[in-house]
Amino acid sequence: MALVKDILDTMDYGPSPEANDHVRDWLARHADGFGHFIDGGFVPPAEGAFFDVTDPARETLLARAAQGSATDIDKAVKAARRALKPWSALPGHVRARHLYALARHIQKRERFLAVLESMDNGKPIRETRDIDVLLVARHFYHHAGWAELLESEFPNHAAVGVCGQIIPWNFPLLMLAWKIAPALCAGNTVVLKPAEFTPLSALAFAEICIEVGLPHGVVNIVTGDGATGAALVAHPDVDKIAFTGSTEVGREIRKATAGTGKKLSLELGGKSPFIVFEDADLDAAVEGVVDAIWFNQGEVCCAGSRLLVQEGVADRLYRKLRVRMETLRVGDPLDKSTDMGAVVAPVQLERIRALVAKGKDEGASLWQPSTAMPGMGCYYPPSLFTGVEPASTIAEVEIFGPVIAGMTFRTPEEAVALANNTRYGLAGSVWSENIDLALDVAARLKAGVVWINSTNLFDAASGFGGYRESGFGREGGREGLYEYLVPGWEKSARAPRKDAEPAKLSPLPVGGIVGGRAGLPSIDRTAKLYVGGQQARPDSGHSYTVLDRASRPIGQAGLGNRKDIRNAVEAAARATAWSGVTAHNRAQVLYYVAENLAARSREFEARLASMTDTSAKAAAGEVALAIRRTFLYAAWADKFDGAVHATRSRHVTLAMNEPWGVIGIVCPDEAPLLAFVSLVMPAIAMGNRVVVVPSARHPLAATDFYQILDTSDVPAGVVNIVTGESDPLATVLAEHDDVAALWYVGSQAGSATVERASAGNLKATWVNHGRTRRWSVDAEAQGREFLRRATQVKNIWVPYGE
Ligand code: ADP
Repeated sequence: MALVKDILDTMDYGPSPEANDHVRDWLARHADGFGHFIDGGFVPPAEGAFFDVTDPARETLLARAAQGSATDIDKAVKAARRALKPWSALPGHVRARHLYALARHIQKRERFLAVLESMDNGKPIRETRDIDVLLVARHFYHHAGWAELLESEFPNHAAVGVCGQIIPWNFPLLMLAWKIAPALCAGNTVVLKPAEFTPLSALAFAEICIEVGLPHGVVNIVTGDGATGAALVAHPDVDKIAFTGSTEVGREIRKATAGTGKKLSLELGGKSPFIVFEDADLDAAVEGVVDAIWFNQGEVCCAGSRLLVQEGVADRLYRKLRVRMETLRVGDPLDKSTDMGAVVAPVQLERIRALVAKGKDEGASLWQPSTAMPGMGCYYPPSLFTGVEPASTIAEVEIFGPVIAGMTFRTPEEAVALANNTRYGLAGSVWSENIDLALDVAARLKAGVVWINSTNLFDAASGFGGYRESGFGREGGREGLYEYLVPGWEKSARAPRKDAEPAKLSPLPVGGIVGGRAGLPSIDRTAKLYVGGQQARPDSGHSYTVLDRASRPIGQAGLGNRKDIRNAVEAAARATAWSGVTAHNRAQVLYYVAENLAARSREFEARLASMTDTSAKAAAGEVALAIRRTFLYAAWADKFDGAVHATRSRHVTLAMNEPWGVIGIVCPDEAPLLAFVSLVMPAIAMGNRVVVVPSARHPLAATDFYQILDTSDVPAGVVNIVTGESDPLATVLAEHDDVAALWYVGSQAGSATVERASAGNLKATWVNHGRTRRWSVDAEAQGREFLRRATQVKNIWVPYGE
């Protein structure tokens, strides 16, 4: 044993192991294997198969968990379905009490859960004890509160139904809490599948559900691997899938759920920038890097894994970092003085090694400290790459390990460009003592969470989730709850109607003659496309004949194709100024649109009455409502603002509603003017630029609208209109990487195609699955739902105080 004198000489930390007898006893009691938790009790797997769960630090067997089959999933979904009605019918207060009970019991078992999680995953006890488990309890408390407030804060909303939830292994219990707490609070029931490496804390949680008397079937937990997850995704009686994991699997799930009507939220990978400006507090930034990339062995989806340093301070920062890295202790996760524990499994260790080898091959310099590494177990040392080329593998690919890729920049512009040079957009961290600069950069980062002079901060009151290929949907906060709710009217909505035949458009050369009416000579009435503020001839050189209610030709519209959509997206992508002007300015433009529409209302009424089988009175009603809705969104433009979330003390957490950028909008045939206006106005009011495909059958109300746009100061490129066959054009929009979100109102088949085709860049889609929305009913066709769909929430964390 070391003498005090020696310790004072070396100042070494002695061993400080956390006892784990209680966990070992619990595991011993389950030595025969854990079953699935279905309908309030543990049941053996239908096919009798189990898999090993190991401790990656000691390479020992911890337990055997049941391998879930499609039969087990079916049993669990049926239990969740049975439980749904009574659970969602409970008053919010009663559900709140259940959630409080879960939170309290988690707190009672804090130490047990922290030790179990550390053994199962390999993460240090310091982190499970001080971060994971505390946040888990906090999440249940926070959502108990929402259950209490649901009726008043989310009026006219209903639970989605049975939710399938699939989680990864890096924060097993925390991810469970992020999924289960909001689902239950909103009245949903769940079937959760934990990751195969780390199912144990979920099974301990199942025991807590029994302990607190949660009604049977409200929570079901089926363990297993990717195949079990896939069976859950494929189950026809699941209403929503919530997934956290890799972008590859997220993309598979997007494809698998396409057209099924399942609601989907995806929290996927990241390659988040950690940006250090030369005026940053470098010592603080070094501690930031430690938390960004060596927290949880770097197995964090929002890890700051790209270190972007301003050139003038790069060497100094790297020097300081190397000194700090020498002091990081890597070893037994259950030792309270361990900084970095074990990587979750040998396969992950291999992946890290292979990517590091690739980084060296590609010419970056690797530095690792001389820290003693344990002789056995899945460990990897903290690693710093410098001189990394922005286009190299380690700058682009998520390593999911304790490896940071350093590169330098000269100006803030370059920093932003480098930071956004990724297909991901989960998080970012900005270090500067100049708050103007830091906030400016935060605003320009394409990421769902930005931490200023801080990193990896989480709280139940703040939304978390990504931009771009990091997925869509938020977890936590008010914004996260919408993932588990649907507008009330949708629940009682009409079943999808049978898909109508898509309009058959027969191409004619532009300028081709349409038969004149009543013996009058024909004139060229070809409505062109509207791109970048100009009327444009379709690339195909063709138009199609538009028929009136009696199937008589009344004009021609351009037959847009792939090229036209691309041109329109380009024009929309260029019109960035619109997203930067004040909301007041946008409101002014919308008021002007409304006024001009009012001035020409007679013309639009006549057009509607001639195009569709609507009566003159109904046409007048449609135009009047289109005008009113334009006023409404002008009013909303500067009022759909964000929030300051109540998270940690001495932090301002700004939830900002940001426009997506370019939104594709595909309009239905019904209410050709009103639906067009109801979709376009909220999108542009929030600062988006749009590429709109109007009704294929009745495009002329939209093409008449050019003149309104031209005379209302709508800047070029903000609204672009491409007429033609809806579904093929929708598919081009869905596949286009510069379209950030896509709204499609049309057939069931078209909805499925759009969802499938959007998997490429994982754009957020909003489709109607062939269900009708009554455009004349305010509760269905206007308001916050549209504004929410027109924005994504970015949370910016700003600490304050010395
Ligand atoms: P990671 O790289 O973090 O392990 P994965 O995406 O592979 O991420 O795994 C996350 C979760 O998704 C795990 O619970 C895993 O079992 C599950 N999973 C893997 N493949 C599929 C799939 N095809 N369908 C559904 N779930 C899957």
